[in-house]
Amino acid sequence: MAIATVNPTTGLTEQEFEAHTADEVEHRIGEADAAHAALRATDYPERADWMRAAAELIEGDLDELATLLTVEMGKPIAQSRAEVLKCAKNMRFYADHASDFLADEQLADPAAVNASSAWTRYDPLGVVLAVMPWNYPLWQVIRFAAPALMAGNTGLLKHASNVPQTAIYLDTLFERGGFPTGSFRTLLIGAREVAAVIQDPRVKAVTLTGSEPAGRSVAAVAGEQVKKAVLELGGSDPFIVMPSADLDAASSTAVKARVSNNGQSCIAGKRFIVHTDVYDEFARLFGEKMAALTVGDPMDEATDVGPLATETGRDEIAELVADAVAKGAEVVTGGRAPDRAGWFYEPTVLAGLTSDMRLVMEEAFGPVATLYRVADRDEAVAIANQTTFGLSSSVWTSDATEESFFVRAVDAGAVFINGMTVSYPELPFGGIKDSGYGRELAAAGIQEFCNLKTVWKA
Ligand code: NDP
Repeated sequence: MAIATVNPTTGLTEQEFEAHTADEVEHRIGEADAAHAALRATDYPERADWMRAAAELIEGDLDELATLLTVEMGKPIAQSRAEVLKCAKNMRFYADHASDFLADEQLADPAAVNASSAWTRYDPLGVVLAVMPWNYPLWQVIRFAAPALMAGNTGLLKHASNVPQTAIYLDTLFERGGFPTGSFRTLLIGAREVAAVIQDPRVKAVTLTGSEPAGRSVAAVAGEQVKKAVLELGGSDPFIVMPSADLDAASSTAVKARVSNNGQSCIAGKRFIVHTDVYDEFARLFGEKMAALTVGDPMDEATDVGPLATETGRDEIAELVADAVAKGAEVVTGGRAPDRAGWFYEPTVLAGLTSDMRLVMEEAFGPVATLYRVADRDEAVAIANQTTFGLSSSVWTSDATEESFFVRAVDAGAVFINGMTVSYPELPFGGIKDSGYGRELAAAGIQEFCNLKTVWKA
């Protein structure tokens, strides 16, 4: 895949970039390694000052950065601005909390281990490679980089090939904030070059957010090298609606969950599983609200849904819908790629899904929702858990017994009750099954790339 900004709204190539040569990659890994030696000698207050300064820089670049995100991958401009601000918030969160999350912990009863004292501490691992996707080009990277750098690690970024300008912006962000030169470096390389970077002895760990095949490939190389890996892969999250739910709120949130980021979010509700008593009413409300969305130029503030980020992505979503319709699915609304330039697809709701349709098991990475009618909570859970994914989930009920049933029974990294899944710096984030392993954000996120060192003293 060429390393290039191709505007998904027009389909036109705006700028192409040469991949880094092997010598340049070698130089950049060396810089990150040298920066680690400098960074691990610094303390948390110093890193926190630099992190806060970097947060101010991205806020200062808000309009320019938001426009860049929209040009490179097509999300509506208001959502691009929100992404930039969320990044700044996450940077400050880790500036404020890293020292607490990584504080030494004394064993209360050292005599039990024949010691005068014993404790644990968190040391950084070193250079960590981040392989990142295009869907939240800034957030996915900052979600990794803010905790990693606060812990004293340094980062190498292999960003998706279609967001090179965002990658280049990130290359210098942290040193502009004050971090030692080389603390964070972008590698402009293709996916094929990733294995060699993981194999480099100076690289200690890898994190990947993206598709399941990419995750399997990176995890295989990391496994062979006995290096830590964190994987945040796809999801086909269930959104369960029970009779006691507020249907108006549930249907409005369902729309927001499904079309946010033009439908290209790993943690979006994608499969809408509705109790038969409220199915018809929910389907009507949901279909009407999806049909009322404004599809158009993502630079226009009035646009709800912009184009998909890539032509391949748009074609894949069209194929998934065509497969379901050919096998008998009912189109509640949408179901077409509008006849215009760019990689648009109409907000779509399909009902009457059967197990032979690809959409039942595969992730729909675009504004396409599927509806399932269920007789009771057991059937709801059976459908919720039937995919190979397990990222997050959303359950709508005002019945306390039902709520605790779903919280236990849904196989996912998170359950959101009466709300859509959102990632917060304060809450751990990650999946199970084919959605990956490891956690990002909160204390768990910063601890992933640390050596939990045990100290025992006679
Ligand atoms: P990919 O997983 O292919 O891309 C994500 C990142 O991984 C990119 O930097 C990509 O580089 C890199 N990559 C791809 N293959 C490999 C490999 N074998 N070894 C190492 N690195 C690799 O996502 P796509 O853009 O192709 O999207 C395809 C699907 O992935 C989507 O439809 C969706 O299902 C899922 N996805 C999930 C995301 C999430 O947030 N969980 C985000 C994006 C996609 P390069 O760009 O150079 O290929």
